[in-house]
Amino acid sequence: MGLSKTIWAKPSDYLNHTQPQAPVLFFAPAVLQATARKFIEGFPGLVTYAVKSNPSEEVLSNLATAGIRGFDVASPFEMDLIARLAPGAAMHYNNPVRSREEILHAVRLGVKSYSVDSHSELSKLAELVPTVGVEISVRFKLPVNGAAYNFGAKFGATAEKASELLARVAELGFIPSLTFHPGTQCTDPMAWDSYIRMAAEIATNAGVKIARLNVGGGFPGHRLMEVAPQIDEIFAVIDAATTEAFGDDRPALVCEPGRGLVSECYAFAARVKAIRDEEHVFMNDGMYGALAEMPLIGNIDRMEVRSPEGVVRNGELVGRIVFGPTCDSVDRLPGDVMLPSDMVEGDFVLFYGMGAYSTVTMTRFNGFGQIGTETVCSLAR
Ligand SMILES: *Cc1c(COP(=O)(O)O)cnc(C)c1O
Repeated sequence: MGLSKTIWAKPSDYLNHTQPQAPVLFFAPAVLQATARKFIEGFPGLVTYAVKSNPSEEVLSNLATAGIRGFDVASPFEMDLIARLAPGAAMHYNNPVRSREEILHAVRLGVKSYSVDSHSELSKLAELVPTVGVEISVRFKLPVNGAAYNFGAKFGATAEKASELLARVAELGFIPSLTFHPGTQCTDPMAWDSYIRMAAEIATNAGVKIARLNVGGGFPGHRLMEVAPQIDEIFAVIDAATTEAFGDDRPALVCEPGRGLVSECYAFAARVKAIRDEEHVFMNDGMYGALAEMPLIGNIDRMEVRSPEGVVRNGELVGRIVFGPTCDSVDRLPGDVMLPSDMVEGDFVLFYGMGAYSTVTMTRFNGFGQIGTETVCSLAR
């Protein structure tokens, strides 16, 4: 049994030394803990982690070590994972549609916070969940601005319905709260501002003073070299908007970032299998592997191409069509990808900022997708 695992100084050390044939994810616990502390110190409320964005055990344990005490869970599997790896941490069951079995699982594990966006699901909760000390947050939606992906298409009550639900939550004796999720990779801080103002209106119309306002996830990762995320600015907007909109009735704040906490702590290396007739680049990973998000929300351009001997390719950048390894023609990165002209078969393509929605959406489609994970001290180039 291997009791210790090699920890590499940085990804290039591993690549130079091992020259792996399979794609590799590089995890830097120190980067994750530093990001977690930045959120805990900067956000004006409770920071919880949306488990779905990266449920790796090493991620969850490092977040717990860094001081994260609450987790947004969406399924019995995620609840069991948190009960095991972060015992005693708060679980917020914020998937607004659940089977009765799933609700009973949460009750057995002592979950004290649920979200809801419909009368039918609120009735189910009222039937199955003891009211004392239990919070129900009504999830509402607005037309989305500034997010890479529209979450309102699936979940969230309109403002009018949210007021009705909130009044009923209070009547039933639960702790009434509100929640929203502005969408993922939300680069515009003003998106939170409009949601927070709407939350105050919903509470006023319901005649209910809310205990907490959960401002969701959506905090952006650093995907494009030119667009550095402004997390502190988002925290400031949230703080100011809450005070202005709620005044003396200011609720306690909660956030539930997934991407914002984990994107930066992983890098990913794929390898160039072939450059077909000097035209199409084929890599050993693509949209059915760790790069699943690229066709959905756009490419990450924080890339570096290295030869197997460790030479960084710095030729002039040229646009290339890049395919993944499967035989499916949608297995392709969107658009033309700018890559150095001196790149050749056998080179590694390193992507930075790869911790969210990468380890967890990988498949074994067509027999590919066996991706290694290595631990590194730093993600320095
Ligand atoms: C997915 C999700 C999150 C996390 O979203 P990120 O964009 O990764 O921060 C938070 N809350 C809810 C309800 C979600 O569905």
